[in-house]
Amino acid sequence: MTKNCCFAQCQNNNSSSSLFKIPSKKYYSGQKREWADDLEKVILSYRQDDYIYKLYKKDEVRICECHFVPSDIIKKGSRKELKIGSIPTLHLPQKLYMKRRSAQKAITPKLFALCLKDIEKQLKLHT
Ligand SMILES: [Zn+2]
Repeated sequence: MTKNCCFAQCQNNNSSSSLFKIPSKKYYSGQKREWADDLEKVILSYRQDDYIYKLYKKDEVRICECHFVPSDIIKKGSRKELKIGSIPTLHLPQKLYMKRRSAQKAITPKLFALCLKDIEKQLKLHT
């Protein structure tokens, strides 16, 4: 089961902290959809790898409680809920986490040679 926080390198090990499911843009409209959109922007600004896209596809994106200020969390009995419009601001990763298969094969020797040829051509044109 993917029950983990969507932020890569999240250090939160507190088992009593809640994990909030991110609303899906597919199922909501109006205010909640805008919120889902804002959350997506924040999440993708910290993480762009195959895993997060897979979570989004399956609608399984979750953020743990530690990234929200206490006033963003509403207590409903033993359950906790996020206030609409809450944006994670605490304990966020330092860097954008990027690990995509496409990025790994970005520059091959063949491509590099082609680039060099192109540069040579450009140089000849200007001399
Ligand atoms: Zn977390």
